Amino acid sequence: MVSPVRDPTSFLRSEYEELVHADLDWKIRILDGASAPWSIVEGKKVLMFCSNNYLGLSNHPALKEAAIEAVRTHGVGSGSVRPIAGTMDLHAELERRLARFKGAEASLVYQTGFAANSGLIPQLVGEGDLVVSDELNHGSIIDGVRLSRAERAVYKHADPADLERVLLEAERHSPSYRRVLIISDGVFSMDGDIAPLDKIAALASGHGAMVYVDDAHGEGVLGEGGRGIVSHFHLSREQVQVEMGTFSKAFGVVGGHVSGSRDLVNFAYNKSRTWLLSGSHPPAVVAACLAAVEVLEREPEHVQRLWERTRQFKKAMAALGFDIGRSETPITPVLVGESSVAKRLSQRLFELGVFALPIIFPMVAKDRARIRTIMNAALTPEDVDFAISAFEKAGKELALL
Ligand SMILES: *Cc1c(COP(=O)(O)O)cnc(C)c1O
Repeated sequence: MVSPVRDPTSFLRSEYEELVHADLDWKIRILDGASAPWSIVEGKKVLMFCSNNYLGLSNHPALKEAAIEAVRTHGVGSGSVRPIAGTMDLHAELERRLARFKGAEASLVYQTGFAANSGLIPQLVGEGDLVVSDELNHGSIIDGVRLSRAERAVYKHADPADLERVLLEAERHSPSYRRVLIISDGVFSMDGDIAPLDKIAALASGHGAMVYVDDAHGEGVLGEGGRGIVSHFHLSREQVQVEMGTFSKAFGVVGGHVSGSRDLVNFAYNKSRTWLLSGSHPPAVVAACLAAVEVLEREPEHVQRLWERTRQFKKAMAALGFDIGRSETPITPVLVGESSVAKRLSQRLFELGVFALPIIFPMVAKDRARIRTIMNAALTPEDVDFAISAFEKAGKELALL
């Protein structure tokens, strides 16, 4: 007789229950219908204040029409990975248009931003190389670096002096590193601050390092007409060799991309395993991304409105006495301290008709819990006033003001 053995999957439930017990599990909220300025969340009509859809493009008529038309002409799937039979005229056109928008020699589109980082970083650096990373970089960068065999060094958040220390140490390393890659988020998603990319680029050129910027939260927000952080700092492609971004945030759709030299793109598409081995975007997605680029070129007013609303919100929140941190972008954290307070504030805001989620430990330090708000160009000034009033009411109730 076989003796009964322990259930090998018992950890699934126990680890999940540990999360529930610590109140660290994700409680997924369901949107009924589109992500719009006023969305239906869990059956309640609320002001959307935590979506990455900065410009409201996810529900823009031009993008919807383009997607529908692409289904009619190209079907619902690409049928393959990009290098085999999954590159349609639409995919090629999107890359041409994106490169033009970015002012780069060439662009390459991946399925997601995560696929771009995890596919490209481990090809740019490997054994005998060094990656120098901001301590608050996004998880997809961290995973990309882990997949490489490169050594890694972390510098203090957005601190050029500490970056220089790391680069000087790297120069003393023996044997000397084959390549050095500096990598940073462009806009940091928890605090809304901007990486000092001009200083990073200057240090990199002085030390013979490459620069890779992940501009997921800068595109559609910073720079001329929302062209991103490289445009914001007026940097050249020689100074920032890899500009990575996503179609899932301000562009309102889904997809990752990198822009830079033709050499970079030739290298990237021949080597990134995520690009080579995973199915390409369906036509509707590509056509919607293409329409998003066109909307940004044609209607710069979305970006202007985003900043007007952002200034309106930040000014009023600071005047009320809220601690809104060091943000320089449409991401505005409202710092409250304890996790439990952040959760109560979020709950109360939801009851008052504003959907904004708490960010708590382990995503941020234990005493730095916050509500993270993200502005959206599709909100009216009255909508923003509505949110400010809800914050004022809930803030007073919780004795934050
Ligand atoms: C959202 C985000 C990503 C991932 O992009 P997706 O296209 O959604 O996979 C990568 N990096 C940063 C900094 C992000 O904020």
